[in-house]
Amino acid sequence: MKFLLAAINAKYIHSNPAVYSLYAYSRDKHEQSMEIAEYTINQRTEDILAQLYERKPDAIGFSCYIWNWNVVRELLDDLPKVLPETDIWLGGPQVSFNAPQILDQFPCIKGIMVGEGEVTFRELLDRYEKQDTEDFSGVAGLCLRSGFTAERDITDLSGLPFLYNDTETFSNRILYYESSRGCPYRCSYCLSSIDKKVRLRDIDLVRKELDFFLSNKVRQVKFVDRTFNCVHEHAMAIWQYLYEHDNGVTNFHFEISADIINDEELELLGKLRPGQIQLEIGVQSVNEETLAAINRKMDLKRLEDVVSRIRKNHNIHQHLDLIAGLPYEDYESFKNSFDRVYAMKPDQLQLGFLKVLSGAPISLKIQEYGILYTKQPPYEVLCTRWLSYDDVIRLKKVEEMVEQYYNSDQFGHVLSFMEQAFDSPFTMFETLAAFYEEKGYYTNSPSRAYRYEVLLEFTDIYDSGMREIYTELLTYDLYLRENMKSRPLFCRSLTEDVYKRFRHDFYREEEQTRCYLPELCDYDSRQLSGMTHLEPFSYPVWDKEELMRSRNNLQKQEDKYILFDYSKRDPLSKEAAVYQVNGKT
Ligand code: SF4
Repeated sequence: MKFLLAAINAKYIHSNPAVYSLYAYSRDKHEQSMEIAEYTINQRTEDILAQLYERKPDAIGFSCYIWNWNVVRELLDDLPKVLPETDIWLGGPQVSFNAPQILDQFPCIKGIMVGEGEVTFRELLDRYEKQDTEDFSGVAGLCLRSGFTAERDITDLSGLPFLYNDTETFSNRILYYESSRGCPYRCSYCLSSIDKKVRLRDIDLVRKELDFFLSNKVRQVKFVDRTFNCVHEHAMAIWQYLYEHDNGVTNFHFEISADIINDEELELLGKLRPGQIQLEIGVQSVNEETLAAINRKMDLKRLEDVVSRIRKNHNIHQHLDLIAGLPYEDYESFKNSFDRVYAMKPDQLQLGFLKVLSGAPISLKIQEYGILYTKQPPYEVLCTRWLSYDDVIRLKKVEEMVEQYYNSDQFGHVLSFMEQAFDSPFTMFETLAAFYEEKGYYTNSPSRAYRYEVLLEFTDIYDSGMREIYTELLTYDLYLRENMKSRPLFCRSLTEDVYKRFRHDFYREEEQTRCYLPELCDYDSRQLSGMTHLEPFSYPVWDKEELMRSRNNLQKQEDKYILFDYSKRDPLSKEAAVYQVNGKT
């Protein structure tokens, strides 16, 4: 007997912890009867179909999410044609809250595993192995054509085995880890709000499992815990363990509620290695009426304070989320939410759009809120009583600009200078989006140089008279990230003798003194010049505060040379280390 667990991930670097957890929970008894198959949504569906067919399973279970549902649906249309004898089961959040309707839609499905699947799946395997597959109504946690079976008890999280045996299967992929299940909050747009109570995995087990990641030097581990820090002692114990056992390599990702972080936690977080952890923090909106309507309790002032205190330590990457299309939030209100979150200076600001998930409490209020959303996944908002479709389209364009210019982390200095020319950051991105639109500059995958050049053209119009300083800011941002082999046209020419001589003399002297690049002491002057970059600037582009202070009175100064050292990068921003060659900047 072969039961194939099929996962279709959004990207190759992702893995699907759900199928690995089902597998691990039944491994002791049914290892010979299970297989896992992972694909991505970027593969051709016909190729996935062919590969599933070639594995000839007796039963197959798909792990269903909003991001893979279109692919799974296509497979459900064709799989029964080529594997008519194979039983098809579904599970996952996409099908757990509307299981009867899904069964009606797809006659080929045998049944749906509703909610937590580990124990249910094990009992299904028992039945298949005993060839007792006529009637599954005795297995709890299922939705069958005859209706729901008994409700499945909530799973004891500490009773689940660890998912990973080896790291080979997962090399170059993100590993996921679950130290708690459930969320104590009740945000109305979220399926976790209807999850059962919060359960924690035994902390001794967690420590042992963290050791696995640490000793294998896994690059990134993402905790899937819905609100990781909802139980203070649990979060503290894990962060303390990571602090004491850091391997210098592994990065751990947590979704947290920032406003409940206390001073003890902040102190501990401040001690972690730069880049050791990253935090994802949902803000969603700052409009109080909106927050009340979506049942989201949040102390915004405390959240701002916590984000700012974490930021000051410059050791943790913070990712803040906003959602457009929530009740009572119109375009102006969203602009206000954006500006307030932007002012917190997150490392990433994700501008998302409401998704109306079947089963989420907000789905019962779509008429009251006038919410229309796409019929197909991701069921994304098209308009609400407060936000027209025109507004949504405008916000989508702003989102693209935020992705390209803010979240790409490649324009830090130029953006912070450019912001001063607009009445708010949102207006800046909105104006930039309108400029892209007017000029027809939207393109599928714009190169880095293209985005820099467009920005220079934009600032010529919207912050005119500043071309020289913008040229230098763009050059500075550009070389902070990359030792460009081909120099963009807007950069000043360095072919004059004076520059050539300076470079030549500097690297010759550095070879003797090892003053700026002592770690590169094995390299001669020619090699050093290839590994680093030396650039003259006539404005203090590296000093954001100084530029801001003297914005209206910026004077061109004698050239100062900045050395970009790509062998040393900031662990958070990945920017090269920079030195003013007559002293560190
Ligand atoms: S949005 Fe986050 S905090 Fe709110 S219910 Fe969902 S998981 Fe919990």
